[in-house]
Amino acid sequence: MDLATSVQYVKGVGERVGQLLARLGITTVEDLIYHFPRRYEDYSNVVKIKDIKPGPLTLKVKVKSVHARYARRGLHITEALVSDNSGTLKIIWFNQPYRAAALKNDKDYFVAGEYSYQGDRYQIVNPSMELVSTFPKNTARIVPVYPETKGLKSHQIRKFISELAPLIKDLPESLPDFVVTSEKLMSRAEALWQLHFPASNKTLDKARSRLGFEELYEVILASLLNKQAAEQSRGTPIKFQEALAKRFVASLPFALTDDQRRSAWQILQDLAKPRPMNRLLEGDVGSGKSVVAAMAILQAATAGAQTAYMAPTEILARQQHETIGQLLQPFGVKTELFIGALAAAEKRNADRQIKSGEVDLVIGTHALIEKHPTFKNLALVVVDEQHRFGVNQREKLMGKAKEVPHVLSMSATPIPRSLALTVFGELDISIIDELPPGRLPVKTEVVSPASRAQLYRKVEAELEHGRQAYVICPLIDDSDVLGVKSVTAEYKRLKEGPFKQFKIGLLHGQLMPDQKTEVMQKFNDGELDILVSTSVVEVGVNVPNATLMIIEGAERFGLAQLHQLRGRVRRSTHQSYAFLIPSTSDAPLKRLRVVAANSDGFALAELDLKLRGPGEMYGHRQHGALDLRLAKLSDARLIARARLAAGQTIKQKINLLNYPRLSARVADLRKITNLN
Ligand code: ADP
Ligand code: MG
Repeated sequence: MDLATSVQYVKGVGERVGQLLARLGITTVEDLIYHFPRRYEDYSNVVKIKDIKPGPLTLKVKVKSVHARYARRGLHITEALVSDNSGTLKIIWFNQPYRAAALKNDKDYFVAGEYSYQGDRYQIVNPSMELVSTFPKNTARIVPVYPETKGLKSHQIRKFISELAPLIKDLPESLPDFVVTSEKLMSRAEALWQLHFPASNKTLDKARSRLGFEELYEVILASLLNKQAAEQSRGTPIKFQEALAKRFVASLPFALTDDQRRSAWQILQDLAKPRPMNRLLEGDVGSGKSVVAAMAILQAATAGAQTAYMAPTEILARQQHETIGQLLQPFGVKTELFIGALAAAEKRNADRQIKSGEVDLVIGTHALIEKHPTFKNLALVVVDEQHRFGVNQREKLMGKAKEVPHVLSMSATPIPRSLALTVFGELDISIIDELPPGRLPVKTEVVSPASRAQLYRKVEAELEHGRQAYVICPLIDDSDVLGVKSVTAEYKRLKEGPFKQFKIGLLHGQLMPDQKTEVMQKFNDGELDILVSTSVVEVGVNVPNATLMIIEGAERFGLAQLHQLRGRVRRSTHQSYAFLIPSTSDAPLKRLRVVAANSDGFALAELDLKLRGPGEMYGHRQHGALDLRLAKLSDARLIARARLAAGQTIKQKINLLNYPRLSARVADLRKITNLN
C-alpha cells in the first residue's frame, strides 16, 4: 500500500464506503491522509468517577451491568452501570441497540462524553466507548472531527486513518533538509500523524504550523521561480512619450485622481523596459481603471504596437469598445470590436485589418483567443476583470504575440495585501484606492423576504423620480430545487404584479447576443425602468442613472461578488441603494451583514479571505490548487519565515527533484500564480 493506492483497499473501507469517501473528494490513500480535521474535541481529561465535574471528559471503567429496552416505539434505551475504584456511575445511550452486546464485563474501557445537565440530572448521554487495550481514537485524547458526509461519520474516518499509521509515520520529508533544520520544523510524517491524532495541544500547534509553513513555502517558491523566469524574458519596449500622455490627460472631461496618475505612471514606466510588464491594476468598481488602461494603449499604438483587450462578456466588450474607442479616436487610434456575435464576414474583415496592422486596438471577449484573429505586432495584452479568466485563456492570448507581450491585468476584486505578498509576490501591483470625487457609498441593507412589499414602495418612489433599478437573481430557470428565484419567473412576477406601471427588461446569459445588446441599450437610454438580470451585469456595465439594486437569493452570492454587483449602482453622485434579500427569513448570513456594514472593497476582501479562504474567493478554476488549508494569511511572521526559506532555497540552488512532492506542487503552483 502506498499513497496512490485506491482508498477502497484501506482496512474497513471497501467499495460501498469508498463511494461515500469519494463524495468527500477522497479516492486515494493520499487523499485520506490529507483529509484534515475540521476541528477537535478534547477528551484528554481522564478523571475518576468521584472527581467528575461538568464538561467533556473521559472515564476509565469496568462495566458492571447493562440493561437495554424499548421505552416506547422508536425509543430504545441502553443503560450501563460502570465503575472505577472511586465510584459507580450510570451512562445512557439512546437508539444505539448494538451497544449492549458490545460491552464485556471483564474488560477496561474508556468512556468519553460530556458530563452535563440533561433531562433532570447530570449525566453522560451517548458517550463514545472503546477498549483501553486498543489505540484510543475516540476517547482519552484530543479527538479529531472531520468533514463528514451522509452515512459516513468522523469515528469511521478516524478508524480508517488510524489503519494508515505505519504508512504515515514512514512518509518521506517533503521540504529540503536545511529548511526543516533551520526552521525547527516537525517532520512531515510526524506532523501529519499529529494533525490527525495529536498527543497534546502543543504538538497539534507544531503540526499545524509545520504544514501551514509548507503550504506557504510552496506557493512563495513557485512565485519566486516565476519571477526569476520573467526577469530573464525579453519583450518589446514601448517608449514613454510624456508629452503624449499629458495631451491625453488634458483631453479628458475630468481630472485624474492621484491614484490613477500614479498607476498610469507605473504602467508607462514598465512598458518602456525591455522585459515584459506583468502588472495588476486593482481598483474598486467604478474607480476608473479603463482610462488608465487607455493611456497604456495610446502609448503602444503611437509606438506602432497593437493591443488586445479581453473582457469577460460581450456587453462589457461592446461598452469598452465604445468608451475607450471614443477616448482614443482623437489621437488616431483605430479600434476594432471582436466578439463571437459578429457575422462571419464581419469577423473575416476584422481579422484582415488586425493582421495587416491597420487596427491598433482590438477589444473583444474569449473570441480573441480562437484561431483568428491573428496580429501583426501584438505587444500589449489587457485583461479586464482578470479573475474571470483562466490561466490558459490568458496564455493563449499572449501566445498571439511574437515576443512575450506586456500584460496589464485589471481587477475590481481587491487582493488582500497578505495574499498579494505571498501568492502574487512576482506580480507588480498598482492600486487605485480612491474613487473619483463625489461618489457616495452604496447604502446597503439586508431585507427579509417578508418585508418585500414595503421595500417595493420605497423603490417605486425612486423610480417615479426617474431613477432606474436592477433586480438580480441567481439562476435562469425554475429547475433549481433550492427554490432560488429565477430571472424569468421574477421578471413575469414583477411585470404582472408589483411593478406593472413600469417598463421592465430581462437580461440573462442565454439570450441571443443582439437581444442582450438591445436590452442593455434600452436600459442605458432610459427606455426601461427596471432591468431584471442574472449576475451577467456583475462586470463593467455602466448606467449612471441606475441607483437601485435588489439582489434576490443574496446568500447564494459570494462576498466579493455582492460587492461587485452593487458597484453597478455607484456610478454617479446620486445616493444609491442595494437591498440584499435572502431566500428565507432565517437570520441572515454573516456574509450579508458584513457586506451591508462595509463599503471598502479592500476591507471586504480581507474579511472574505478570513470567512472563506482564498480558494473560494477566487473560484477553483484559478486558485483551487492553492489549497491553503492550514496557513493563515493573517500570520505575517509565518509568511516572512516562508519567504526567507524560499529565497534561500533558490540561492542555494537546491535540486527540487530530490523532493518529488515539493517539485510536483511547485510545478502546479507556477502555472496558477504565473499570469495573475
Ligand atoms: P472601473 O474601474 O470599474 O472599470 P471605469 O473605468 O468604467 O471603472 O470608470 C467608471 C466611471 O468613472 C466612468 O464613467 C469614467 O468615465 C468615470 N471616471 C473615471 N475616472 C474619473 C475621474 N478621475 N473623475 C471622474 N470620473 C471618472
Ligand atoms: Mg471596468
